[in-house]
Amino acid sequence: MKISPIMREYLGEIYRLEHSPDGVTTSALAERLEVSPPAVVRMLRRLDEAGMLTHIPYQGVKLSTQGEREALRSIRRHRLLEVFLVRVMGFGWDEVHEQAHGLQLTITDAFEDRMDAVAGFPTHCPHGDPIPTKEGQLTEVNDQLLIEAPVGAQGVIRRVKTDDGDKLRYLAELGLVPGTRFHILNRAPFNGPLRVRAGDREHILGTEIAQVLRVEMKNDEGRRTNDE
Ligand SMILES: [Zn+2]
Repeated sequence: MKISPIMREYLGEIYRLEHSPDGVTTSALAERLEVSPPAVVRMLRRLDEAGMLTHIPYQGVKLSTQGEREALRSIRRHRLLEVFLVRVMGFGWDEVHEQAHGLQLTITDAFEDRMDAVAGFPTHCPHGDPIPTKEGQLTEVNDQLLIEAPVGAQGVIRRVKTDDGDKLRYLAELGLVPGTRFHILNRAPFNGPLRVRAGDREHILGTEIAQVLRVEMKNDEGRRTNDE
């Protein structure tokens, strides 16, 4: 059976949900893909018939090896489009998820390759997520939630996990973007706000905004003391 771009997009979302704490559910898929739950159920049946996934009783669906390969193609295309839209076309990082969502259904493989080259063969999307290679290799991500890092922790912001345009614009204003160095200066008790230095600026971050940031710490072992 031929896999259509829409089928591939579903597979991409299933893959993302499989690797998220939410897990794969009909309602999560319906929300992410902006379709109705019955449409999701119909598509899952088609993908099952095409050998892309299996239903596991009481657990939902799981991608087959072939399904996973198609999913990674979809994710690659989505993330490459995002980089292309930001770097080459000058869109804001808060605008590109929506754009990529529509475009990925229409572009050809040759278009994708050209985009990759023009954007400088990027390895990560503007939000810090790794782009699968053409061969379907996806770099393992080793980061953690900023809000779970201890006071004194230092390192680099790696990913921003939100599609909320307002949050993305706010984070960009503060310079809290992938690649920025951070240092947690203080934390108010009882899940209170964090005081963080990012680059050469200081910010007070509430939990709602801090929890979308994922960071890589300079010293995971906690061996670091005060050798600034
Ligand atoms: Zn992205």
